[in-house]
Amino acid sequence: MIRKLIWECPFCSAETIKVAIRPTVNIVKRTGMRSGKKTQLIKSSGETIILSEECSNCKKSRKEIMKKYKEIGYI
Ligand SMILES: [Zn+2]
Repeated sequence: MIRKLIWECPFCSAETIKVAIRPTVNIVKRTGMRSGKKTQLIKSSGETIILSEECSNCKKSRKEIMKKYKEIGYI
């Protein structure tokens, strides 16, 4: 389910940033053992994880890259 991609660095545009993308999925959870069964639908939000420690081209850190991706709406 997890897709791995290479994204462009938001600072230098080199394709150096390894990311793992987990899509949004619905999980069905059953609760209430004694007093009637309930089925609860839990939505687990998708997330994007940056795997690279830094950009190998411009040496920006993962933290800076993450912040920038959020600013531009990638994640
Ligand atoms: Zn870079």
